[in-house]
Amino acid sequence: MRFLLCTLALLITLNCSGAHWDLTNPIHVYIVDKDTFPKQELFISAANNAILAAGGIVLGSEFTDQKLGLQSTDDDRCLNPEVRGFTHIPTNGIINICRTFANTMPYTLSIATDTVMHELGHELADKGEHLSCDTKSIMTAVPYCHQGVTKFTPLDIRYICENGNTRGSICD
Ligand SMILES: [Zn+2]
Repeated sequence: MRFLLCTLALLITLNCSGAHWDLTNPIHVYIVDKDTFPKQELFISAANNAILAAGGIVLGSEFTDQKLGLQSTDDDRCLNPEVRGFTHIPTNGIINICRTFANTMPYTLSIATDTVMHELGHELADKGEHLSCDTKSIMTAVPYCHQGVTKFTPLDIRYICENGNTRGSICD
């Protein structure tokens, strides 16, 4: 009996583990700062691509509990030419995109998607560290390390899912 109760308690704990993101529920992408964010339509498409790449569901309307914000910034971190964006840890549902990068990059969906996929990985994982360059994964520190990689690799998926911040889909 005691074993049964503990098992039940464990199951309940796992189900109520406080995952911040559920990839089986739709996610709505919005621009936080519509007056200053460059190439907004491009980045919304990129974010939708990134969510789909994580096996998520995108929703055009805002009637969902899960929202992903895109915000442009001139933070000092953007002075590093290899930094295209960043995500605060602990995460807050907002991906920061360096405004100078967004302004000067070509109007190319693959570049924007790569940038948002990487930041979405931080957001879903609630982690700021990176995979080593030789893994050729999206969650490596600089774009050079995953040139041409357009899917989350098995190592990315482990990175994103291992601490339980996200559940469903690739994190099942
Ligand atoms: Zn990063």
